[in-house]
Amino acid sequence: MSECLFCQIVAKEVDSDIVYEDEKVIAFKDINPQAPVHYLIIPKKHIETILDLAEEDQELIGHIHQVANQLAFEAGIADDGFRIVNNCKDAGGQTVFHLHFHLLGGRNLQWPPG
Ligand code: 5GP
Ligand code: ZN
Repeated sequence: MSECLFCQIVAKEVDSDIVYEDEKVIAFKDINPQAPVHYLIIPKKHIETILDLAEEDQELIGHIHQVANQLAFEAGIADDGFRIVNNCKDAGGQTVFHLHFHLLGGRNLQWPPG
């Protein structure tokens, strides 16, 4: 079993509430939601942080954002607006070191985030 929590979610060794899946990407509900809609969109491939992207990952990152748009429409937050967040390393607030993008919406989000 992988030591990475999100790799375990990808492998279905840890349960999650999956809202989207294809061969490259999986999206699931955050266990501790910070907004009425709070999904995590992740590559199936293990990439630790956004700093670890390779040249070949460009299409994957674009695809993740297309999936985020699709999920925003499906969740009914596209009209009002939403936020996509990536926390990078400790000062950025990253707690799980498998690249993920938060999709947050369903309320008026504050700025700056703190
Ligand atoms: P980060 O702080 O790394 O940007 O975000 C990690 C996110 O993963 C947090 O929002 C946290 O609530 C979520 N999370 C941590 N463990 C689990 C889990 O076991 N299942 C799910 N669905 N989300 C998790
Ligand atoms: Zn992983």
